[in-house]
Amino acid sequence: MSTPEFRSGFVALAGRPNVGKSTLLNALIGAKVSIVTPKPQTTRHRILGIDTQAQYQIVFVDTPGLHRGHARALNRAMNRAAGAAIGDADVTVIVLESLRWTEEDQDVLGRAQAVGTPLIAAVNKVDMVHPRNRLMPYLQALAEKAPFEEIVPISALKGTNVEALRRAVLQRLPQGPAYFPADQISDRNERFQIAELIREKFMLRLREEIPYGLTVQVEALEKADDLMRVAAIVWIERDSHKGIVIGQGGAQLKACGRSARLEVERLFDRRVHLDLRVKVKENWADRERDLRSLGLGDE
Ligand code: GDP
Ligand code: MG
Repeated sequence: MSTPEFRSGFVALAGRPNVGKSTLLNALIGAKVSIVTPKPQTTRHRILGIDTQAQYQIVFVDTPGLHRGHARALNRAMNRAAGAAIGDADVTVIVLESLRWTEEDQDVLGRAQAVGTPLIAAVNKVDMVHPRNRLMPYLQALAEKAPFEEIVPISALKGTNVEALRRAVLQRLPQGPAYFPADQISDRNERFQIAELIREKFMLRLREEIPYGLTVQVEALEKADDLMRVAAIVWIERDSHKGIVIGQGGAQLKACGRSARLEVERLFDRRVHLDLRVKVKENWADRERDLRSLGLGDE
């Protein structure tokens, strides 16, 4: 596979929370590698999406959004993971939201420029801009902020220009060998994928601060014939959140469990039995030690 012209490298998808980094990763890979919700700070880990073709292997790195407000250990760990991904990249794609420029975008740009790797801007959510030429002044202003190799307007949601972005990235990759087997699309195992899908369903259904203090751990996973048995714990921060997470007569827990189960069944193409239990670990998101025990510390 490693001919002399073979190109490979790590490409960080950097950006503030909620600009569409995970949606873009999934569009580039053509599979749901990273969970997506309308809430900021959905992604908590560095997640790889691997695109291998005859002439190249691009390892896209989805990152937690770099954000301000570092009060909690979880937020500090998320920012560290994002910073490390940018530091290790061969190419950085800074993902932005059409027509918006915030102080957090400026922070991300500063971080990426300090590393000095080739920088491409992906201006996402162009499907929201009507008429499309309203974007022109924004693109011009952006070009003056930094010496971007390319600025590519995209819609990760609709797939618009995603191939143009992939080509722009590929042109800047060095020659090198494949790092992963050709059939591997992510670095994450089944337990992680299932825990993330369960967490996504809670994040989608719960309001306000509770989803940020919720994490999911798959305790047991067994496969027998066409059935998969999964036991998972939903960790929350406060006893007072239990009522909301479980819901009246268990309705909320059931609804989240059901929609997670359906998606896991589709993903693994087998029947799934999902056992969810809710447990409290007081203020786990504030303590480095708890983060590590929940698989959320430094990776
Ligand atoms: P991340 O925090 O940067 O990873 O952002 P996500 O990928 O989780 O997306 C945040 C929200 O933006 C979700 O509701 C996505 O559906 C939405 N989104 C992402 N890309 C697009 C896009 O191209 N167009 C529109 N309209 N929405 C998008
Ligand atoms: Mg994300």
